[in-house]
Amino acid sequence: MIGVLVAGAAGRMGQRIIHMVNENPETELIGAIERPDHPSVGQDAGVVAGVGALGVVIAGDIQSTGDQADVLIDFTSPEATLKNLRFAVSKRLGMVIGTTGIAGDTLREVESLAREIRCVLAPNMSMGVNVMFKIAGEVARILGKDYDMEILEVHHRLKKDAPSGTAMRLARILADASNRDLEKVGVYQRKGMIGERTREEIGIQTWRAGDITGEHTVMFGGIGERLELIHRAHNRDNFARGAVRAALWVVQQPEGLYDMQDVLGLT
Ligand code: NAD
Repeated sequence: MIGVLVAGAAGRMGQRIIHMVNENPETELIGAIERPDHPSVGQDAGVVAGVGALGVVIAGDIQSTGDQADVLIDFTSPEATLKNLRFAVSKRLGMVIGTTGIAGDTLREVESLAREIRCVLAPNMSMGVNVMFKIAGEVARILGKDYDMEILEVHHRLKKDAPSGTAMRLARILADASNRDLEKVGVYQRKGMIGERTREEIGIQTWRAGDITGEHTVMFGGIGERLELIHRAHNRDNFARGAVRAALWVVQQPEGLYDMQDVLGLT
């Protein structure tokens, strides 16, 4: 049995993670954290997540959470993740980071701190998407020279970062597999008389609408045919289940920074 802290406890992902932690006989919810001004602070985390009272009150300050935890699962925002990671390092906790949109200096600091503990950092914790990561590179190696590569990601209207972390990961995989520099070949917007598509560019397009959980398409467009890899998440439970699986896995590993591919044995 491992003790789990959940940061972002009242969020869309946080609530589903609390469900999964509660359901799994190998995990116990030890603490739940929200931003200090969130209306759920002071409420029972289980009630907020819809599983009934668990006797764990949502805290507005991570410093006040239980010392018996083994691992912190964080699905918040880049700034909050960095703060929570510093806490995990100070307490020698394992950590699972699902937050996306971490970039630049923040990403460099997160990656460096994460190596001091046992940490899984992954933009997508679903089994299907991780298999897609694996095969997209393979297809790009086979077709990438002759086929145009485009990515489309579709999410709900409340998502804050774009393109999604998953789309950016896919773009890096395609670029690496075809020996291209994503900084140079990534195209995120097209409008006006832009001329013919270059053979090297990798298009990454974003749609935002309604309550769509998440969809990713990688298209390899050739002459007379196209091949598409499509992943559609029907709800958030596959991400939440993956996060709990990562938490159970990471506490058994030596210190270091891991990816979901490591957790699922896909490397
Ligand atoms: P959300 O906005 O519903 O939830 C985020 C929660 O974090 C909010 O409740 C917010 O109040 C809370 N928060 C903000 N600052 C905090 C702090 N300092 N301490 C504690 N809590 C804080 O968003 P969401 O849909 O749950 O997604 C959260 C993140 O997870 C996003 O970056 C999203 O892209 C990512 N995500 C990742 C995966 C994956 O598989 N890796 C899947 C879905 C979403």
